[in-house]
Amino acid sequence: MLIDAHIHLDQYKDGEIPSLLEEVETLIAVSMQLSSCQRTLDIAKTYPKVKAAFGFHPEQPLPSQIEENALFDWIRSHKDDMVAVGEVGLPYYLRQEQALDVRPYEALLERFIVLAKELKKPIVLHAVYEDATIVCDLLEKHRHRQAHFHWFKGDVTVVKRMIQQGYFISITPDALYEEEIQQLIQVYPIELMMVETDGPWPFEGPFTNKRTSPWMMHSTLEVIASIKGLSIQEAAQIITQNTKTFYQL
Ligand SMILES: [Zn+2]
Repeated sequence: MLIDAHIHLDQYKDGEIPSLLEEVETLIAVSMQLSSCQRTLDIAKTYPKVKAAFGFHPEQPLPSQIEENALFDWIRSHKDDMVAVGEVGLPYYLRQEQALDVRPYEALLERFIVLAKELKKPIVLHAVYEDATIVCDLLEKHRHRQAHFHWFKGDVTVVKRMIQQGYFISITPDALYEEEIQQLIQVYPIELMMVETDGPWPFEGPFTNKRTSPWMMHSTLEVIASIKGLSIQEAAQIITQNTKTFYQL
């Protein structure tokens, strides 16, 4: 049984959740904003397999100061109900669609890093390509090492830096058909690797028109095992242990 290290469980219907949980040992359910945090908390209280992370997804307009304060207060008051701060990060894809001043997003992310440090929790990051460098700067500035870059993509320089700092990445089912991800698997140490679905985000290739569910991680694992020259059982054991250690499960 695998652990899904990153899923948006709150975006599935109530009736779908029990069958998704049958496919995994545990899953890390991340949140998008305050209402999503509240729904994720409700789900985690109902199902012990679900471990919650609370944050603000960066690919959306910024919260007002009042909304941000309410979110931070809420997270602080629920620190015992969460395993991490997340999902947080920088708006890479939104910036491809519209002109955006990224500085207030960086400032918000920095406040989340400070919060994670204050609460002594790992942080779940959405930071790809050149954004990853900015995030590495911020993590190093605040000496927060417990960082998980989910569905990571980036160049060789930042990959080297992330490995040196001991940051974790997680691999999604697109490893089956994206050469960029297969190359990343080749260079990144398996000791710093987890698997995830980012569900309900849809995948392509053999997963076209299929509802994203944790069973897809078995195919991801086969790709990782084959690239790393390990048996599926060996790869599964290492990756599951990584996730348990990182999230203190
Ligand atoms: Zn996500």
